[in-house]
Amino acid sequence: MVISFSMPDLTKISAQLARIFPPDRILTAAEDIIPYSFDGTAALSQRPAAVVLATTTDEVSRLLKWANETRTVIVPRGSGTGLAGGSIPSPGSVVLCLSRFDKVLELDRRNLTLLVEPGVATQTIFDLADGAGLIYPPDPGSMKISTIGGNVSCNSGGLRGLKYGVTKDYVMGFEIVLASGDVMWIGNKCVKDVAGYSLREVFIGSEGTLGIFTKILLCLLPKPAAKKTLLAVYARMEDAAETVSAIIAHPIIPCTLEFLDKTTIACVEDYAKVGLPREAEAVLLMESDGHPAVVAEEAEIMALLANKNGAIDVRVAQTAEESLRLAAARRSAFSALARVAPTTILEDVTVPRSELAGMVKFIQEVGVKHQLRIGVFGHMGDGNLHPTFLTNEKNTEEMHRVELAFQDIVTETVRRGGTVTGEHGVGLAKKKFLPESVGGLNVEVMRNLKRLFDPNLILNPGKMFDC
Ligand SMILES: Cc1cc2nc3c(=O)[nH]c(=O)nc-3n(C[C@H](O)[C@H](O)[C@H](O)COP(=O)(O)OP(=O)(O)OC[C@H]3O[C@@H](n4cnc5c(N)ncnc54)[C@H](O)[C@@H]3O)c2cc1C
Repeated sequence: MVISFSMPDLTKISAQLARIFPPDRILTAAEDIIPYSFDGTAALSQRPAAVVLATTTDEVSRLLKWANETRTVIVPRGSGTGLAGGSIPSPGSVVLCLSRFDKVLELDRRNLTLLVEPGVATQTIFDLADGAGLIYPPDPGSMKISTIGGNVSCNSGGLRGLKYGVTKDYVMGFEIVLASGDVMWIGNKCVKDVAGYSLREVFIGSEGTLGIFTKILLCLLPKPAAKKTLLAVYARMEDAAETVSAIIAHPIIPCTLEFLDKTTIACVEDYAKVGLPREAEAVLLMESDGHPAVVAEEAEIMALLANKNGAIDVRVAQTAEESLRLAAARRSAFSALARVAPTTILEDVTVPRSELAGMVKFIQEVGVKHQLRIGVFGHMGDGNLHPTFLTNEKNTEEMHRVELAFQDIVTETVRRGGTVTGEHGVGLAKKKFLPESVGGLNVEVMRNLKRLFDPNLILNPGKMFDC
């Protein structure tokens, strides 16, 4: 289906938007809208026609009704930290920014739930839960600034994903404004509910293409009583990957099993100075949490398995501060890599854990083959690797080699039974790889769903796949 959009008359749309939003929440001046032209994804940007800053469900609903009448494209946006270009505006579109729609509505201790608006920062949710003796486990590296609406829209993961799962595992329900402007509530505070199709799963991870989250009901867990953090140091990358496989096969499911390669270790050390061993080829950050006796036993076994699989050193953090410092080092990996080259392209492939060692080696070989600098880090316990190209988008010849290298990595990932994105989403950046990753029929079913919920294609069209 081809639907064409004409470039809107700015004076006309400003006047129309002013019927929905107060003047101080409509941005049209170049200097005001430029910050909304890009997100965290390298080499992608596009100015919108206007930006609106919504703070209520009614505003969102009226905006989408107007967009349907005028066939204006709406691009939802939280904090713009996305790494797949999901909130990059389309030409002539209106960006619907939700970061000021940010009230915490209810902490229900009897049901262990938290009801929030979509613009609340992930860190605020974690801190609120922590203050109540509870935990909200999903912890993307961007959690200080990312919004919960963005997290739900991308189904974001984090460092605790191995044991605790990802954002969708903590979403019990939400209010969603459909493309038609109708407001729907999905889910409830019940732990069990099988009434009808699971519409939750359709909308979570839909990257702003099917509806706008305007309230989100999260579930919280009791805070684990104890935690132990270990750092294992390796002279060979494959040994770190083998350790991960050995820990999972034992079987132990630690809350964190993260890895940094030599390039990333050096960048993190330059940036955060936490005492990581620069001479190492790889380090594994391992964390166990739960009952103190279980934590002590798991930590001991993980240290043993690391030594058995070639670790040259295993350190156990002696204090809570040291644990926090090591976790912060891992969290800073992307920012640390981003400092050393003009353009940082962070990829997000995931393979079955049994394929990790081979995949990590393959990525190293791709770097050599295409003469590129690639740092690799990631949620190794989840099989989720972030090969990070340190490049310069102004160097077209080098960017061409980056594209070839990434195509090699995608092909190998799919061959090993993996996926092109484990947590960042498809957006614009991974769109061309979606059919290869999930299959053509899957994409066609997704396209049909899109047309069902958004027949006029006003909601973030062209993201994930062409409509
Ligand atoms: C330094 C850094 C570290 C990161 N670490 C991680 C990580 O560990 N794990 C991980 O998964 N990701 C990570 N990310 C990626 C990113 O932070 C996440 O995808 C995050 O969820 C995006 O949130 P946001 O509020 O910035 O959303 P945006 O980037 O603004 O939007 C993301 C997508 O959600 C849509 N959207 C936003 N809000 C809504 C809403 N209310 N309703 C409907 N659609 C909406 C947008 O249209 C877009 O498609 C990282 C990014 C950076 C820059």
